[in-house]
Amino acid sequence: MNPLYHRTQFLLSTLEFARDVPDTGFEVAFVGRSNVGKSSAINAITNQKALARASKTPGRTQQLVFFQVDAQRRLVDLPGYGFAKASGQAQERWRKALEDYFQHRKCLKGVFLLMDIRHPLTAIDRLMIEWCHRLQRPLHVLLTKADKLNYGPAKNTLLKVQQSLGLSCQLFSATQKLGIDSAHAMLDRWFEIE
Ligand code: GDP
Repeated sequence: MNPLYHRTQFLLSTLEFARDVPDTGFEVAFVGRSNVGKSSAINAITNQKALARASKTPGRTQQLVFFQVDAQRRLVDLPGYGFAKASGQAQERWRKALEDYFQHRKCLKGVFLLMDIRHPLTAIDRLMIEWCHRLQRPLHVLLTKADKLNYGPAKNTLLKVQQSLGLSCQLFSATQKLGIDSAHAMLDRWFEIE
């Protein structure tokens, strides 16, 4: 349990990230389909009840949402991943911003990809994995809602995901507070915290 993460605060949300948040220090991004448990995971990792509510505010669902861990370190929620109810033009702007962020953001040190343990590796997840590999973005998978499966089947899914794509991967449950230490360890590594 690293108390550093408990001090995380909402910074701002924007589509114009290059203008609004200097590309310095360290960022770790969270991606996952709607309802995968991403807000719950961010709240659990930061030990806060409602931090990630910021990501669900209307108008922010197609923006990058920045949370400040300390002066040099940020968590970034990318809420619009994998679903698009927006009009063609807004959708296109969002897709471009995401692409731009993944391709050019120098301070992006790692990506948490969240997948519901009962439905891992959907088409959009595979696309994201391929994308991260191509852009050489370090990726770590959180298999969320692990409490929904018994330990045996959960472990089998974990092994399958690890083996099928050679992915760094772990079980996670926000409700049971499972996997938080491992997620912190990953963050420590990406954030270069001793
Ligand atoms: P988001 O849309 O990805 O941000 O998902 P939320 O964090 O809002 O969670 C979506 C739904 O899944 C909510 O009803 C949560 O209560 C539920 N949920 C989130 N995490 C867990 C978990 O670890 N275990 C279980 N059983 N349900 C969860």
